[in-house]
Amino acid sequence: MTLPVIDFVTVRTVLVPVNPPHRTASGVVAKSPLVLIDIHCEGELSGHAIVFAYTPIALKPLADLIAGFSDVLAGEGLSPVAINQKLLKQTRLLGSQGLVGMAIAGIDMALWDALAHHQQLPLHRLLGGNVTPVKAYGGTGYDGELETARQAESWASKGFKGVKAKIGYPTVAEDLRVIRAMRAAVGPDVGLMVDYNQSLSPTDAIARLSHIDHEDLLWIEEPTRAHDYRNTARIKDAINTPIQSGENWWGPEDMQLALEADASDFVMPDVMKIGGITGWQKAVHLAEAAGKQVSSHLWPEVSAQLLTVGSTSHWLEYVDWWNAILAEPLVVTNGYCDFEAVAQGSGITWNEKAIERYRV
Ligand SMILES: [Mg+2]
Repeated sequence: MTLPVIDFVTVRTVLVPVNPPHRTASGVVAKSPLVLIDIHCEGELSGHAIVFAYTPIALKPLADLIAGFSDVLAGEGLSPVAINQKLLKQTRLLGSQGLVGMAIAGIDMALWDALAHHQQLPLHRLLGGNVTPVKAYGGTGYDGELETARQAESWASKGFKGVKAKIGYPTVAEDLRVIRAMRAAVGPDVGLMVDYNQSLSPTDAIARLSHIDHEDLLWIEEPTRAHDYRNTARIKDAINTPIQSGENWWGPEDMQLALEADASDFVMPDVMKIGGITGWQKAVHLAEAAGKQVSSHLWPEVSAQLLTVGSTSHWLEYVDWWNAILAEPLVVTNGYCDFEAVAQGSGITWNEKAIERYRV
C-alpha cells in the first residue's frame, strides 16, 4: 500500500488573547503567539498543528522556517518518522533546538494528524493505545493569595482532581500563604502542585523548599534552571516533596541527560520542545524505562491522546488558552479527559472564523 503524497504546506500566524493574562514568576503571557500549520496531501487529506512561539518576536522567523522546510516536504510520502529523520539530518550542522526544533516538531505533529485522518483513527489508536483514563489538573497564575485560592476553588468545583499554582513570591512566607489558601479552598482531596518557573538559585531553592516541604504537595516544579540537571538533582535529594521538570527540555537528548543526572522525580515533556509526536515517543520510552511518571505540558488535545499510550502516565496539564481557535477543544469531564469527541486525528480542528479574527 503506497503512502499518500504531500502536496503543499500552509502556514498562518495568530495572536490569541489569554483571558485573564497568565502570570508566572518569570513573566506574563497575555497573548499566545501561534503558528498554525496545515499540511495538505493528495485528495482532501490534511493535517494540522499548533506551534507556540512564546513571544511575538519569534512568530515571523518561525513561520518562515516552517515555510522553508515545506519545500522539502512536497512530493514526499506521508511518513512522519521518515520526514523527521530527514529534517533532523538536514539541520544537524545548524542544530535542532530552539526555533528549528519547534518548526520540525510542528511539522511532525501535523504529519501525525494527517496520518491519523488517513487511517480514520484518533491518534491514540494509531499509536496502538487504548483509551485509559487520563486525569487533568487546572492551573492558576502568579496571582496572590486571594485570587489563587479563588481560581483553585473554581477548578475543583468543575471536578478537576488537581490544581497547580505559580509561586516564587518575594518571600517564602508569601509562598506558604498562597499554598495554604489554596488548600483551604479545595479541601484535602484535591492534589496541589506548585511551579517556580526556574526562578530560584539552587542554594535559595534548597532553603526555600524546606519551608514548603510539609504542605502535602504532589510536586514542586522547576525550582531552578531547567537545564541545570546537577543542581536540580541536588534540590531533589534535599527535599521530600517530589520535584517535577521537563517542559523546557529539548528533544529526547535532553530527557536522556536529565535521566542520567536523575534530576527530577517526575518528568513532564512538552510535545513541541521534545520533538513532536515522534520525539515524545522516544523521550517517553526513556522515561518509562527509568521508572519516571510522565505528565504533559500545554497542547491538551494532543497530550491527552499521547498520555493514553504510556504505561507511566501521570497528569495532563489542562489549559484553555487556545480554545478560541479550535472547533472542538478537549473536553474534561469530572476531572478526566473525555475522548468521545475525538473521532479522528490529534484533536486539532480549526475555528476558521476565530483564526481570521486573530490573524497577524
Ligand atoms: Mg511549568
